[in-house]
Amino acid sequence: MRASTYPLVDADEAASLVLERTQVLGVERRSLDESAGRVLAEDLIAPSALPAFPSSAVDGYAVRSVDAGRTLRVIGESAAGRPLAGPVGPGTAARVLTGGVVPEGADCVVMVEDVHVDGEVVKVPSPLRAGTNYHKVGDDVHEGDRVLSAGTQLGAAEIGIAAAIGQAMLPVRRRPRVALMSTGDELVEVGKKPGPGQIQDSNRWALLAALREAGADVSLLGIAPDEPEALRRLVVDALESADVLVTSGGVSVGTHDLVKPLLESLGTVHVGRVKLKPGKPFTFATLPQGKLAFGLPGFPVSSLVTFEVFVRPSLRKMQGFARLQRPTLPVRLGYDARATADRTEYQRVTLRREGAELVAETTGSQSSSRLLSLAGAHALVRIAPGDLGVKAGRVVEAIILALP
Ligand code: AMP
Ligand code: MG
Repeated sequence: MRASTYPLVDADEAASLVLERTQVLGVERRSLDESAGRVLAEDLIAPSALPAFPSSAVDGYAVRSVDAGRTLRVIGESAAGRPLAGPVGPGTAARVLTGGVVPEGADCVVMVEDVHVDGEVVKVPSPLRAGTNYHKVGDDVHEGDRVLSAGTQLGAAEIGIAAAIGQAMLPVRRRPRVALMSTGDELVEVGKKPGPGQIQDSNRWALLAALREAGADVSLLGIAPDEPEALRRLVVDALESADVLVTSGGVSVGTHDLVKPLLESLGTVHVGRVKLKPGKPFTFATLPQGKLAFGLPGFPVSSLVTFEVFVRPSLRKMQGFARLQRPTLPVRLGYDARATADRTEYQRVTLRREGAELVAETTGSQSSSRLLSLAGAHALVRIAPGDLGVKAGRVVEAIILALP
């Protein structure tokens, strides 16, 4: 064992350093089906107006408002997709169904409930207001409008908008290809009975879920032993097709911690230790061809917290997200938050509503091995280094993972 030679980098500085070294990935055209959940790479401009024709909002009669109170001759029907050929002239009306074209000449639609029909004539009420009960050309979208901006994640409504303006294929950012690996001789596959001193490889599955949630396309590399050559071969192979390498374990200073020297030999280690709790041994390296490597600590909570702080924003930048960070909200502390002398601490809290406020309670022991401190947590509260901490009752800005 030797003391680490890596300088302790401030947590925010390390996070900016990671983002500075992160490149936005390329653009690909994908079908609407495949674009859901992806990030739009270019502004989407409407090639024409929506609706493209005056479209009835109700079932009724298209008439001229100046014919209010009269009995009108019904000249035909305009159903959705089957417009009426002629115009509506003085003294006439056209039966019109929802989504049908309001014929030329008509300037309002009277709901079927409001008329009296007698064979081929219809009596309309008075007064009538021009422009009622139909959507005018361009009411929803004008030709040339920017309907979606680059950086928008394509959810249900956004996909619907793209479809409505006739875009079958969309320019989206490529998903980052991430190779994920656990390291450690003590690890066994989940479901296998651990032998003496062995534990189940939980980080791989936790990180897989976190990576997918962040939009990554993940290949699972399994467990690498604490043996330099075997580890190197696995990593070098994985990097053939990956943009990003994520490992867990093997970054502290014990003799079996092989990830840092491996990354040193393959590229440049920019961060080897961070003033962060949990997650002090977090390691970040750049590799040839713009690839990135994140060596996450082995302790389960440390690996997920460093994922949140460093990896997730980086993956979001790669995908062109307009917003890289999770939202924050002011919360009132329901407990005395003690600080760590030399490190920014990310404490896990649950939130509850109290009137108009959110109140944060600790999830209990914040040990970096205790995943139950993160399971069900609604937010992370950052406590600055020092010996003051933050007293119960104070309002702080919390990083929201999920609202109660
Ligand atoms: P390391 O960073 O390799 O020294 O690991 C620190 C601690 O995290 C040790 O107690 C490991 O057993 C534990 N650990 C490492 N990798 C994993 C993993 N994949 N799943 C669960 N715990 C792990
Ligand atoms: Mg280890």
